[in-house]
Amino acid sequence: MKIDFFSAKKYDIDFFDIANKTTGFEINYHETHLGPHSVNMVNDADAICVFVNDKLTKAVIEQLAQKGVKIIALRCAGFNNVDLEAAKEFNISVCRVPAYSPQAVAEHAVAMLLTINRKTHKAYNRVREQNFSLNGLLGYNLFGKTVGVIGTGKIGKAFIKIMLGFSCKILAYDVFPDSELEKNGVTYVPLNKLFQESNIISLHCPLTKENHYLINKESINIMQHGITLINTSRGGLINTTDVIEALKSKQIGALCIDVYEQEETLFFKDLSLEIIDDDKIQRLISFPNVLLTSHQAFFTKEALEEIANVTINSISKIDQNVMPQKDSVMLT
Ligand code: NAD
Repeated sequence: MKIDFFSAKKYDIDFFDIANKTTGFEINYHETHLGPHSVNMVNDADAICVFVNDKLTKAVIEQLAQKGVKIIALRCAGFNNVDLEAAKEFNISVCRVPAYSPQAVAEHAVAMLLTINRKTHKAYNRVREQNFSLNGLLGYNLFGKTVGVIGTGKIGKAFIKIMLGFSCKILAYDVFPDSELEKNGVTYVPLNKLFQESNIISLHCPLTKENHYLINKESINIMQHGITLINTSRGGLINTTDVIEALKSKQIGALCIDVYEQEETLFFKDLSLEIIDDDKIQRLISFPNVLLTSHQAFFTKEALEEIANVTINSISKIDQNVMPQKDSVMLT
């Protein structure tokens, strides 16, 4: 089994080399993204392994099929970057890692919320400069606040459990409500009611054609003035231009984002010496009430171990024609 592995970082290589010790697949690590510009690098591979910002359009998938690729292994949960219909058409199996560590992402969302609210990132720098003033560091109690959670799958549920620990009231919206959460005091409401009544909103649904720009001028305008908005899901759920306007008008009081709609040209790279040709991200970074991390919510030791083990195991099973469980790991 030969695998061409795209968007490879040192930490990926470390964890995959350990996971691959017993299987001994030949893995060719490429630092670049997979897309129309790089598909020619695939050479004699049976499988390719990709991450969130690799672009698997129909044209890319067609070329992979012509090169004899049989498996696309996504080492992530989301699959909005893959044309699954094309994969089916060209008879390529697509697998993913549906639940490597929902707690990793949920805990990062909470970490962002606590940081932006209590301004510990600013306090840390202040104290290092012997500035012990509290001016500008005022936060609010999470106790008793209403938190709206959109998407109550694995990550949304883990996030809700933490927020219930803060004694927050939880309003939720999901196309499939979860009865266990309802028993724990979570109230499912229509989306508009969630927008209107929440003090904090956290997004945990996948990006689909239907919910692209779910957070836009109209939805923001019916939210509470000064809302705290958290997105650790996918950048396309938020219309960045509308969010910037709402930050300027103070309708949005704080924004925490681990994902960004144009992230593929920026995230996971050190651009500290570059001129960034993306005015929207520069504007976002300029707000004192915006906390931006570069798709790191998943980034824990436990998650990386699980991602590597599940991916290697899935490729191995597909190779042996023993498919991993349908609807979770297998997408085609
Ligand atoms: P999941 O499949 O367990 O849960 C998703 C939930 O969203 C499901 O309950 C589903 O019914 C619901 N849903 C689907 N469409 C919806 C809609 N239009 N409105 C409301 N709810 C909807 O997925 P998960 O493991 O909880 O992951 C959620 C998302 O988190 C992923 O799709 C991915 O985009 C993102 N994610 C981000 C990171 C990161 O590092 N930032 C890591 C992993 C996953």
